Amino acid sequence: MSVPARAFTPAVLLLAVAGLTSCGGVPVSSPPAPANTVERPQEPAPEPGADRVHWAYDGDDGPTHWGELSDDFALCADGSHQSPVDLPARVPHGGGRTDVQVGDAEGAVADTGHTFQLTVNDGDGDGDGDGAGTSVIHDQVTYDLVQMHYHVPSEHTVAGDPADVEFHFVHRSPDGGVLVLGLLAEKGDKTPAVQPFIDAVRADEQTETDLDLSRMLPGESPAYSYEGSLTTPPCTEGVQWLVLQERITLSSGQLAVLTRAEDHNARSTHPLGDREVDGTDLRFGD
Ligand SMILES: [Zn+2]
Repeated sequence: MSVPARAFTPAVLLLAVAGLTSCGGVPVSSPPAPANTVERPQEPAPEPGADRVHWAYDGDDGPTHWGELSDDFALCADGSHQSPVDLPARVPHGGGRTDVQVGDAEGAVADTGHTFQLTVNDGDGDGDGDGAGTSVIHDQVTYDLVQMHYHVPSEHTVAGDPADVEFHFVHRSPDGGVLVLGLLAEKGDKTPAVQPFIDAVRADEQTETDLDLSRMLPGESPAYSYEGSLTTPPCTEGVQWLVLQERITLSSGQLAVLTRAEDHNARSTHPLGDREVDGTDLRFGD
């Protein structure tokens, strides 16, 4: 069965990101505590009516079983416009231009049970482009940064190959639309601008931090553009994806902190089906 990409109302998407846990929004009832954990961050209060079903990246609660864990997760199994996908080697030509306003992202970094996430202060998604983190103007709609988190290895692959890490910058528009900016990272030179986030992950307790995204993101980059889904339950569709072609590098020390905290939290790629991957030129400004 083909599910139209816009089958889900903005209100549903809004609910899906309101919980602010990784790409989805489902607070977990009892995340497994790693043996090396000294102190667990407090779980955010569950949204009214939010599902509290436990899910994971392996075993009986792993990605191939997500659709069976709850009726609310049905799209994880049945959706036809799911993310991530395998991207072509080059960004297709012919796309337009997408402006991204970049500022500092201030907020608390905490372990959600599935990733470490920076929840942006003032990440209200009111579309006023107030420069708290990033604001993306795509198809004349302004999306404000709500949170940033990461996956190991990358969820999107390029010509079949994953990168070492993928950062997801989750944005919301005033009417509840969701746009995720994907930034691939691999081993190489240290990127100092990422270090405050790395330090917060290493601390393994809720830590206030301030990321200068103008120094973390590339100056400009073509980006793959396609319509997909949240990559975590409930796998809600109607999400606009922009995955940058330009990658950043992380030193082996930076990478080690991220991969020690999360050794595998990436969903497998899904078929494109009737979708197309387009291209757009991202222009970063302040
Ligand atoms: Zn994600």
